[in-house]
Parts: sequence; C-alpha cells; structure tokens
Amino acid sequence: MKTLLSRHLPAKEGLLSLILAAVLYYGVGFMGQTLFSLQPSNITLIWLPSGIALVMLLIWGFRALGLIFIGSFLLNIEGMLLQNSMALSVLHTSVAALVDALAPTLSLLLLRRFLPYGARNANDLLKFVVLAGIVPILCSSGLLSWNLVLGHYIAPSAFWDMGQMFFFADILGIVLVYQIYAGWMEVHALKIERKRHILLPLIGLPLFCIVGVLFDLGWLFYVVPPLLVVLAFEVTRFYLAIFSSLSMLFMILATAQGVGPFINQTQVQTNAEMMAFVLSSALTIFGVSLQRAQLRRSEKDKQTAEKEAQYDPLSGLLNRRAFMPQLAQLTTENAYQGHCSVAMLDLDNFKAINDTYGHSVGDRVIQLLAQIIHNHCRSQDIAARLGGEEFALVLKDIDEAQVFPLLERIRSTLANMSIAAEDSTIYCTVSIGWAERGIGAEGEALLHLADKALYQAKAKGKNCIVKFEAATDLV
Ligand code: GH3
Ligand code: MG
Ligand code: MG
Repeated sequence: MKTLLSRHLPAKEGLLSLILAAVLYYGVGFMGQTLFSLQPSNITLIWLPSGIALVMLLIWGFRALGLIFIGSFLLNIEGMLLQNSMALSVLHTSVAALVDALAPTLSLLLLRRFLPYGARNANDLLKFVVLAGIVPILCSSGLLSWNLVLGHYIAPSAFWDMGQMFFFADILGIVLVYQIYAGWMEVHALKIERKRHILLPLIGLPLFCIVGVLFDLGWLFYVVPPLLVVLAFEVTRFYLAIFSSLSMLFMILATAQGVGPFINQTQVQTNAEMMAFVLSSALTIFGVSLQRAQLRRSEKDKQTAEKEAQYDPLSGLLNRRAFMPQLAQLTTENAYQGHCSVAMLDLDNFKAINDTYGHSVGDRVIQLLAQIIHNHCRSQDIAARLGGEEFALVLKDIDEAQVFPLLERIRSTLANMSIAAEDSTIYCTVSIGWAERGIGAEGEALLHLADKALYQAKAKGKNCIVKFEAATDLV
C-alpha cells in the first residue's frame, strides 16, 4: 500500500498501482452511489472519487486522466441511459466523464502554480480549498448540471439545486481524501504512540453513532467535531483523517437514511444543513491537523538547530561552545569523584599540509583524526574539536595507567595511516598533552594544563605524548 502513494514509483509498479487506484475510484464511487444517494434520483451527497482523482493526478500526473475518464463513465452510464437514444446517452455520459477528469486537472494545475508544496501549514487551508476545490468544482458542477439539463435528465429549474449538490459533494470528497493522502505522505504516518488513542475512537465513535441513531439523540452528532479536535493532538494526521472521514460519512449516511439532527421539512433544506455542518467540521479538523503538523515541524527544526549549534559540521564532534560547559560540569562536579583526565591534541605541521596539498586534503586529515578519536572513545568520554586542527578529549572513569595506552593508540593509528593526497601518499602525526584531575585544577584550568603539556610535546619534536606534571612546572 505504501507504494500506492509513493512519489517515486518504478514504472511497472507505478502502472499496477495506478490501475488499483482506478479500481478504488470506481469502487468508492459505486459505494457512494449505493449508500449516499438521494432516492429516487441517483445523486450522491458525497463524491469521494473527486478527491481520489485529484490524488491520482498528484501522484501519476496526466497519465491518470484516461482511467479517471473510464471510471467516471462506467459509474455514470447506468444512471444516464436515455430510452430514446443510445448515442445521446453515451454522449452526455462522456461529457460528464470528461468534466470529472478535467476538474481535478484544473485543481492540479492551480496547485502546481500557486501551492506547489500542497497544504502544509494552517494558513494554506483557505488557499487549498479555493484552488483545489472552489474554483475547479464551481466550473465542473455548473457544467455537469448544464449537461443534465441539455440531455433532459432534469428540468432547467433544477439547474441550481443540482449544481449545488454536485458542488458540496465534490468539495467534501476532495477535503476528506486529500487529508488522508497528506497524512499518508507524512514520515511516520502509521506510528501509534499509545494504543488507546486508536482503540478508544475505534470503539467509541461507532458506539456514539449507534447510540445517537438508536435513541434518536441527534445532538450527539454535534459532539463529534470537538472529539476529533482532541484526537488531532493524540494520533498521526493519517489516523485523524481516517477517523474524521468515517465520522463524516456516518453523518451523511444517517441523514441519507432520514435520521439525525439535520432532517428538515424539505430534502433541499436537510441536505444544505447537513452539508454545511459536515463540510465546516471537516475543514475545522483539517485546519487543526495542519496547525499541529506545523507545530511539530517547528519543534523539530528547533531541535535540529540546537543540535547543529552543538556539533562541528566538519568533524562531527562537539564544538568548543558545547564542550566547555560539559568539561566544567564533569571536572568540578562534587558528586563525581572518579578518575578523570583531559587531553589536548594538535596535528603536526598542519599548515604545511594545507599549503602543499590544499585545504580539502587538510579537511580530510581533520576528519580522519576526528574519526580515530571517536573510535577510541568510550561512551562516557567527551571528544570535541576546539577549532582549527585542535582537539580535546575528556576521559572519564579511567585510571592514570590506562590513559597513556589509549592516547598512544590514537597517536600511532594516525601516524601509521597513509593518506592519499593528489598523486602522492602522505603521513600525518599528532602531538598530545594531557593532565589528570586531582592535581588541584578543574574545568578550563585543567584544559590549560593539558595545553601546556601539548606545548612541551611540540617542543620535544612532535608526534609524541606528554603528561603535565605539577612538580616539573612547564610554565
Ligand atoms: P604545529 O605542528 O606547531 O602544530 O604547526 P601547525 O602548522 O600544525 O600549526 P599552525 O597553528 O601554524 O597551523 C594551523 C593551520 O590550520 C592554519 C590554518 O590555515 C589551518 N586550519 C584551521 N582550520 C582549518 C580547517 O577547518 N581546515 C583546514 N584545511 N585547515 C584549517
Ligand atoms: Mg598544529
Ligand atoms: Mg594548532
């Protein structure tokens, strides 16, 4: 099913999915005509195929047009058969099918032009409804109604009522189906955070409807939209769209069967009241779900920005800004009394590498050392790139005797690694200075002592490790 709505379809699978979507178009249309139609005429109160056609075009583009035409033709031909002329029956049914295919085409063109990313934020709602719904559906419902008048299926006086019916039924179809499609396209569409958020509405909503109908408690219908709003904050947009659509379908079904709070003196009044309620409820839920998606996105963006602010993009290690507070916290923490050492690492003759082989080779060397440091770190250690070709490492829960071997492994791994640079192979080395906590210094002061030891390592000829010793003050 995932591939059915996937944007990147392999050609063959895409074709099969397109045919399945066309079958769905026909099946849902047939169900609509059976369950939601006004008797004795064959006019439906909700036309989900309008939404399915739009989604088919959004996914498969204009390739879907032929199948939409055929689907609509097959759905309409039976109800549009004229006794006197088969040719005229086919002509008027073809016109209706053509309009059914062209309306979503217009929606698609308008969306591509004015809302290329679809309805993503709450303030896209109005734009979406106008572009995908009102403009194309006003045209199509007028044309469909006119086609019926021309074919003498309805009296000219019924033009407006019929047009109005088409209009509401098609827009509702678009709003409900598009919501399901947009929900499905989300990254974690099927994720269920708490099972009860799905189970309760799954049991509760039908129960609610059954009680409402059995005991003639029509007012219960009015409680459904606020319940769906509550649900909007608990489940993914996909599940919300499914529950919202099922609730709306139930209300339409009940009204079509003559029950519920919207039943009025005339059929036109009944339908108008029901459609106004259902459409406004569906749009409200859609708006709330868009708002929630927007909130989630900005929350995620914030988290990403926070993460980016902590890490150095070249090496993937912590940057100085994030490292310093962690160093201070760990080494000054009274609660933590274990062994702890701080090391400073600096690439040797790095300027010469940059000057000889270029900055990109220099960058690769920085990344390589970062990777080696990372590979030798344990989960409790903290590694950072302080800037340029300087790195720092806090080794936690490690006694003095183990520090040197660990740092030595880092030094020798780099020293033995050949690095391809232009036409030659180069070798790089790193100098390391380190200091142990417990000699009186903490936080930044401890780092400073490690830096002093590093300075001595450079002075000793580089590519070596020096420990800061308080007795031999290094100055
Ligand atoms: P020493 O052996 O004494 O450490 O000498 P060095 O050449 O490594 O040290 P120096 O501080 O003179 O040079 C560091 C160079 O690092 C200078 C600068 O151009 C380079 N550098 C700083 N940041 C980056 C970076 O992000 N990428 C690259 N490729 N080079 C950088
Ligand atoms: Mg250096
Ligand atoms: Mg340096």
